[in-house]
Amino acid sequence: MLTSFSLSHLLLISALYLFILFSIAWVTERGLIPTWIVRNPLTYTLSLGVYASAWAFYGTVGLAYQYGYGYLATYLGVSGAFLLGPVLLHPILRLTRTYQLSSLADLFAFRFRSPWSGSLTTLVMLIGMLPLLALQIQAVADTVGIMTLEPQPERISLVYCMLIMLFTMLFGARHIASQEKHEGLVLAIAFESLVKLIALIVIGLYALFAVFDGSSQLELWLQQNQSALAALHTPLQEGPWRTMLLVFFSAALVTPHMYHMAFTESIGSNGMVTASWGLPLYLLLMSLAVPLILWSGLKLDVATPPEYFTLGLGLAVNSEPLALLAFIGGLSASSGLIIVSTLALSGMVLNHLVLPLYQPPVEGNIYRWLKWTRRGLIFAIIMAGYGFYRLLDGRHDLTSLGSVAYVGTLQFLPGVLSTLYWPTANRRGYIAGLLVGISIWIFCMLMPLIKGHEVLYLPLLNRIYVLDENTLHMAAVASLAINVLVFSLVSLFTRSTPEEIRAAEACAVENMRLPQRRELVAVSPQEFTEQLAKPLGAATAQKEVGKALRELRLPFNEQRPYALRRLRDRVEANLSGLMGPSIAQDIVKNFLPYKDTTEGFVSEDIHFIENRIEDYKLRLTGLAAELDTLRRYHRQTLQELPMGVCSLAKDQEILMWNRAMEELTEISAQEVVGSRLSAIGQPWMSMFENFIHQQDEHLHKQRLPLDGKPRWLNLHKAAIDEPLAPGNAGLVLLVEDCTEVQVLEDYLIHSERLASIGRLAAGVAHEIGNPVTGIACLAQNLREEHEADKEISETSNQIIEQTKRITKIVQSLMSFAHAGPHHQQHYPVSLSAIAQDAIALLSLNRQGTEVCFINLCDPTHVAEGDPQRLAQVLINLISNARDASPAGGVIRVRSEEKDQMVQLIVEDEGSGIPQTIRARLFEPFFTTKDPGKGTGLGLALVYSIVEEHHGRVDIESPIDPENQLGTRIRISLPRHIDATPATG
Ligand code: ADP
Ligand code: MG
Repeated sequence: MLTSFSLSHLLLISALYLFILFSIAWVTERGLIPTWIVRNPLTYTLSLGVYASAWAFYGTVGLAYQYGYGYLATYLGVSGAFLLGPVLLHPILRLTRTYQLSSLADLFAFRFRSPWSGSLTTLVMLIGMLPLLALQIQAVADTVGIMTLEPQPERISLVYCMLIMLFTMLFGARHIASQEKHEGLVLAIAFESLVKLIALIVIGLYALFAVFDGSSQLELWLQQNQSALAALHTPLQEGPWRTMLLVFFSAALVTPHMYHMAFTESIGSNGMVTASWGLPLYLLLMSLAVPLILWSGLKLDVATPPEYFTLGLGLAVNSEPLALLAFIGGLSASSGLIIVSTLALSGMVLNHLVLPLYQPPVEGNIYRWLKWTRRGLIFAIIMAGYGFYRLLDGRHDLTSLGSVAYVGTLQFLPGVLSTLYWPTANRRGYIAGLLVGISIWIFCMLMPLIKGHEVLYLPLLNRIYVLDENTLHMAAVASLAINVLVFSLVSLFTRSTPEEIRAAEACAVENMRLPQRRELVAVSPQEFTEQLAKPLGAATAQKEVGKALRELRLPFNEQRPYALRRLRDRVEANLSGLMGPSIAQDIVKNFLPYKDTTEGFVSEDIHFIENRIEDYKLRLTGLAAELDTLRRYHRQTLQELPMGVCSLAKDQEILMWNRAMEELTEISAQEVVGSRLSAIGQPWMSMFENFIHQQDEHLHKQRLPLDGKPRWLNLHKAAIDEPLAPGNAGLVLLVEDCTEVQVLEDYLIHSERLASIGRLAAGVAHEIGNPVTGIACLAQNLREEHEADKEISETSNQIIEQTKRITKIVQSLMSFAHAGPHHQQHYPVSLSAIAQDAIALLSLNRQGTEVCFINLCDPTHVAEGDPQRLAQVLINLISNARDASPAGGVIRVRSEEKDQMVQLIVEDEGSGIPQTIRARLFEPFFTTKDPGKGTGLGLALVYSIVEEHHGRVDIESPIDPENQLGTRIRISLPRHIDATPATG
């Protein structure tokens, strides 16, 4: 037999191999490997090959020797779990991703809402994994021992542990940040799986073609050696076979290394789909080599125990490369498992045993503290594995060590299955079942491994118990059965907390999360930071809140309750990735609490549901897709309704704000949806609040002063039940803008009033006309009769003067009342020409203030109308402007053309018109001038004439808001279409 390997030689090879792993991981973390390789589903599948540890690489040959084809249970169990992916792995993956549950302890702490379940899970997992870790160390130590004939493998194993520790610390716990994936680690482990597979296949092929000379020779040999075959065919008793299947089935889910690789480092459901056929294929390929190796080992009468035939084969045929290949394959199998499970365990211990007892100092750098604590834990765990290995002293074969460990982790299977499929399960049941199951395991399987405790006396059965192949399976079944029994009974007969029930619903398969709509005490991200600074320290709190805001793409001044709830959820998820869900839940619950609602109502978050449906859109099919189309249609209808729609939850959170509402209020939906009604700007807020609190369901013609431009609104409201929370009556508000109708109505009322005054004036004028004419005649007669009497003729002259004045007023009254388009003759009127005439006429009158008239009218602007009466309009306007102007003031007359209208504009720099008298300007006899100076008929006449022309008068004053001076009067008149200029 070949013994030429020196110890240093092997150590060098191990170090070199680990260095290669290290480099692969390092290069990947640097981003030097293309993403399509790193995130390839096949890479992910290969990394799951971590399952095939030294137990599978060496131990299965021993298993086959012992149990015949029963060894296949190792592969079939796991393959079964992966083939059941859609009902087992996908739901767990969904949970772990949604809630950032990075380990089994996280999962249970989340599901059972109890830090205790997490801590207990961690503790049990630690103990359960010790034999498996010891197994890996033992396999490497044994193989080195076999190859070097070194009698004391302790030193080797210690050096090996140190090397592995270094690698694990360097890569697993390098950056601790939430949601961080160890892509380097995944690629390194995938590489390891490849090495294992190649090594085993090469050795298997060697066995087939070099040892047996092909399949026909193998057949011949098998026929000649029926005994070898007979061993393989030894039918494995029903019981043990099934137990083994179950054990390896659960190993796929509950062992920390499988959980870590399958879920924590997952690349999404894509990878899971590939793995569900890829991993069984991978394991099948590995298992094919096993009988070949076993037979060739038997044929060559290899000196090593059967479980090391893989290595022994190379030694027996004196092939150094073959032996080395087996050694490296075994090394990679062993190191892969140690690295991944230690990483996973250290995370669990940190989150569930260390952090609940001792939290990082607030002042320090929490990230660093976490990193170093984790490194310390990695050290401790590997040393514990080593310690356990030394305790066992290599007295047990790999098969029994592996079986014991896997039965230990089997105790978690009821917990996992109930998480997915049994919402009634509760924490008491879980803890009780686990405690009972693991105790049986400790007494019947773990203790007997230790020297001096091999024989156990069972007082009840009055029998002596020794751990062997048969009792092992009995103990496994017994521990699991009692675990399940206690779990179910306790769960059925104890109550769960409401929180636990909610978590159970969230975990149950096919249940989408329905977040609740409650209000937080903290009302801004700044307050979040302040609150979180208490447990985390200011720097960390700032970093975490900032990160969550960035991830959600929310602004730093976010105020909406809806957004803040999402922010809280995200902070919790991120902290969960950092410190585990129990601690994260604790921190968030204590420092970012919800407000105590005395009414105690909570309802689901409608925005969340809508957003999620949007995300699901493409996956909806059949009836669901049709319902979604219907939902869209209704939503669209509401959105585009030409009326403002705003729906409110019971706590006055705005749930909907449609487009018309956006236009009316000039507040975008983005800004207000999800916030309280009280958060929207004035004057809307007070109007809505008043309306909500009043009895009437309708409010008509509500006047809303909006920066100078009043609006008239009709408001309606109706109570609606919130979806998913019947009994929580929300409100829907409808806002109708009736400003235009109101303006039109006012205008009509105004002109109607003026018209009636006009008719009155006309009647009065008519009545006054005759007696005044009579008085004038009488006065004339009197003057003629008493020409000699100076006094009488003087008096009669004055009477005649006064009657002339009355006649003048009466005449203008008559012309004011002379309304009606029937006796109108319309001609083209050049605005420039009438402006010129009016200015010339007024300039003759030297009585008024000296002002400067400027005619800026465009000669091409021609109106349609009566030139005389339009000139009258202009004279009245210009004389008013002159009356209002100071000495030397400027009065401009301009014209503009708009669509079918021309506008005549008179601007002055005078006193301006106070708002208070604006409404009465057009009334006859309204004047602010001294008696005798003004008649108050000027603007009334302007109005009536413009009305006759179907035009309109607009007044702007003051036009110079700084000095509160100036008036602009705009007369709109119909435009003359055939633009032949004509003078008035
Ligand atoms: P009157 O000129 O006889 O007073 P009007 O009907 O022409 O009667 O005008 C009514 C009132 O409107 C005036 O008394 C004056 O107070 C105000 N007014 C009209 N035009 C102007 C103007 N351009 N600037 C300031 N006030 C004006
Ligand atoms: Mg006037």
